Amino acid sequence: MFVEEKVANVAGIVCEGKDFSTFRLYLFLQGIRDYKVRDRQIIDWLTNYSGDYIQARLANRKGRSKMSNQKEKELVEIVLPEDESEGLLDMEHGSVYFIGTATVLFRYAGFTILTDPNFLHKGEKVHIGYGLSSTRVTEPAIDIDQLPPLDLIVLSHMHEDHFDRIAAHRLDKMLPIVTNPGAADDLKKKGFSRTYPVNTWESLTVIKGKTTLRITAMPAKHAPVPVKFLMPPVMGSMLEFQGASNSTRMRLYTSGDTLLCDQLREILRRFSDIDLSLLHLGGTKIMGMLLAMDGKQGAQAMRIVAPKTAIPVHFNDYKVFKSPLDDFKKAVREAGLENKVRYLNHGETYTFDVPVESHA
Ligand SMILES: [Zn+2]
Ligand SMILES: [Zn+2]
Repeated sequence: MFVEEKVANVAGIVCEGKDFSTFRLYLFLQGIRDYKVRDRQIIDWLTNYSGDYIQARLANRKGRSKMSNQKEKELVEIVLPEDESEGLLDMEHGSVYFIGTATVLFRYAGFTILTDPNFLHKGEKVHIGYGLSSTRVTEPAIDIDQLPPLDLIVLSHMHEDHFDRIAAHRLDKMLPIVTNPGAADDLKKKGFSRTYPVNTWESLTVIKGKTTLRITAMPAKHAPVPVKFLMPPVMGSMLEFQGASNSTRMRLYTSGDTLLCDQLREILRRFSDIDLSLLHLGGTKIMGMLLAMDGKQGAQAMRIVAPKTAIPVHFNDYKVFKSPLDDFKKAVREAGLENKVRYLNHGETYTFDVPVESHA
């Protein structure tokens, strides 16, 4: 199973058609020296190992090539039950409640959305694969049973500091979860039945009463190329809220665990006017390798994605987070971006106003 998963990850990379060298390194590590094969042969070879997965990826790729680069197809529509308070829908204010790690309760336009649920306590360990673990050094602001009723969860990836065993046991298995295809498969195995996988740049729409929420998967790169295939796939996400007039009122971008990389530049090309951004920082380091943005990269990411307001998350919760928030604060000061950042401690809420006029 383990080998199959690794093959599937590599197949994902190969099917994206970008990274043949990673695949060769993978074969080399597996002790397979005869890797001088053409792409078609690689795909055939991989198909024998994990056919469905690759066929699905190929089908997606085919579908994608027919679409314009500017706009990917809308994959799915989720229709949520309307609240009784719908008549009083507030499109002009919203809030971000910071629970800890990358766990945030986002409320806007009648939606209550939870990101990356991590409710473990101080002193407990997360398992990050390959026998490695890290100890939590903070407390979540609330316990999982103190959560309000949720509409959906947006999950960046299946690392235990983003979806832990408490979340796996205690969350309602019928809650819709929007995430990347790899994490969606894992969630299915954990008993979650309403998972909505999205590939990078693909979107789905969620309808609740008079509001439409469009969620698009953003690129993210958790590790440098040589070890990328040892990590679970990650997605950032763009949440765009539309009111009754179908114009976008608010855009929220969450980075997911990512390093600064070229793919992030495409975000601003496709989505201008990002109102709010949750940046996963912390400079996670395992065996000397950087696996999430440190403070300096966080400030650079702000320049690249250009949100009107950024909130750092995922910066002090685990021992493997090596870049303290002060690194980010310093880089932000040096870049002259202080007026674009809001700092939240666990348990604090940021409330925001959304102007009446809509986006372009
Ligand atoms: Zn991670
Ligand atoms: Zn993380």
